[in-house]
Amino acid sequence: MADTLAIHGGNAVFDGPWPNWPQSNEATRRNLDAVLASHRWSISGQYRGEDSWEERFGRAFAAYTGARWCVPASTGTASLTMALEACGVGAHDEVIVPGVSWVASASAVLGINAIPVLTDVDPRTGCLDPAQVERALTPRTRAITVVHLGSAVADLDRLVAVARKHDIPLIEDCAQAHGARYDGRHVGRFGAAGAFSMQHSKLLTSGEGGAVITDDAALARRLAHLRADGRTFSEQPPALDEMALVETAEIMGSNYCLSEFHAAILMGQLEPLDDQLAQRRRNAEVLDGLLSGLGFAPQQTSAGTTARAHYTYVVGLPETLAREVGVERFAAALAAELHLPCKTMYAALNRNRLYQPFSRTRFALGKEFTDAVDPSRFHLPAADAFSRASLALPHRMLLADADAMARVAAAFEKVARSVDALRG
Ligand SMILES: *Cc1c(COP(=O)(O)O)cnc(C)c1O
Repeated sequence: MADTLAIHGGNAVFDGPWPNWPQSNEATRRNLDAVLASHRWSISGQYRGEDSWEERFGRAFAAYTGARWCVPASTGTASLTMALEACGVGAHDEVIVPGVSWVASASAVLGINAIPVLTDVDPRTGCLDPAQVERALTPRTRAITVVHLGSAVADLDRLVAVARKHDIPLIEDCAQAHGARYDGRHVGRFGAAGAFSMQHSKLLTSGEGGAVITDDAALARRLAHLRADGRTFSEQPPALDEMALVETAEIMGSNYCLSEFHAAILMGQLEPLDDQLAQRRRNAEVLDGLLSGLGFAPQQTSAGTTARAHYTYVVGLPETLAREVGVERFAAALAAELHLPCKTMYAALNRNRLYQPFSRTRFALGKEFTDAVDPSRFHLPAADAFSRASLALPHRMLLADADAMARVAAAFEKVARSVDALRG
């Protein structure tokens, strides 16, 4: 007879503790103190004789990814917004958006009055399907956005080829993929621009934050203006106590500036990033093997991937479990066995409760527009099947030791063999 599930009052397989996230270090604290003492808390504050932390982080993240330019920003959403606008995308333009992602991948497109064209995904990776992109293109398509979802990297070879063939900019949403590599190169460098988020849950974080990387100097200059109300840094260092930003006004911008505190934290958080990514990778490989042996389907990545980054550990339930128990109940039972938040994957964007264009009057731009953005007009069978079968475990789980991976697998095994107790 199966043991009683923890969710029904039985003993948990493992009650932790699990590593915390985010984690700070000496450098984070030292850098924060330095900002406090500097009397410059924003790039729009007066120049104090040193480069801002924002500029330092921009250089450091460009060096980390190998990109020529990096423009930091206040959030991942701001980064996507800036990347789209820097590529010339605007009102009534169509933008390809993958059918499974965090809501911001679509709402950022709407935010510039463009039309998110929800497009189906590859059932094994959950990332944008290049064949479906070909089908979704119209003469009004002005950009293709791709998300490297969970722990996968999208099929960049084919997506780059589609974008080139149709001469449409490819924008990579790398909010979940800091440090992931494809063909030996960092993600974010395969299209016109790569947008990152440094929100609390991400693999590199300052609580809130973002950045855009690009190899295109003209694009970088537009990005810089877009994030600082049409201003950018002067060529020469300004005089002491002068403002470092000059009003070049080459393009009107918004205030999407990353504060000096956030930039200082990010400089500290960059130091352990690669070690943390490597540890997650080792543990994920162990767990992939254990869970595959039990009949589960760990998320796959595209063939060209040379280094995965695990934002969430995503795994598919075997079909009978998905049908008879459902991911929601399975996730709740697993969470109780592990004392760890185990979630279902995001619902496909055409039926995602957070994606509600018509709840905001700013998008009431006429019938043609509202018809075009109506989520119910899209058909996303692969996205729906992926999201209905997949669980997402938090990446801090993968910072635990190898023994903990065996406990995770034991919890999956215990819940799977308690189907009868879980069936509603
Ligand atoms: C987190 C996230 C965003 C948005 O980033 P914020 O910093 O929260 O604005 C966009 N896209 C994806 C795929 C994300 O995971």
